[in-house]
Amino acid sequence: MVVEYTDRCRKCGDIGIFVKKRKLCQRCYAAFMKENRNKIINDTKITYYSELDFIKNFFEHNEWVYHPAAFRLNGTTYEPDFYDRTRDMFIEVSASSGAFYANKEKYLEMKKIFPKINFEIRTVNGDLIDLDAERQHIQNFSENKS
Ligand SMILES: [Zn+2]
Repeated sequence: MVVEYTDRCRKCGDIGIFVKKRKLCQRCYAAFMKENRNKIINDTKITYYSELDFIKNFFEHNEWVYHPAAFRLNGTTYEPDFYDRTRDMFIEVSASSGAFYANKEKYLEMKKIFPKINFEIRTVNGDLIDLDAERQHIQNFSENKS
């Protein structure tokens, strides 16, 4: 039986190498990660490429603040990723369903302790995640789209 590798690296075209979710070979993925770390946008240093992607996908204005505030929850502090000035809204960006479920309790606590603070969770694509729904629309996560 012949194993066929149909996935090619989006950048260099290499085949047969482990392709990450960005459709890049390991070498190109490493270069991409390095290139997109600590980027300056809107006079702000953005730590992760997923956050950069979110900015490009979601915001149609520059009226946002990165890591705007820290909230004291039970025994921990929590910093939402963004604050949208135009909507008076704190936004958490969840890069994967795994990350979302790992932090779900914290998000629920945030809503419970600060009910008057506008707070929402979105995927990197900008899709809203319904924190109150029992079943999440995890197909909205980009990891499941590629
Ligand atoms: Zn490559």
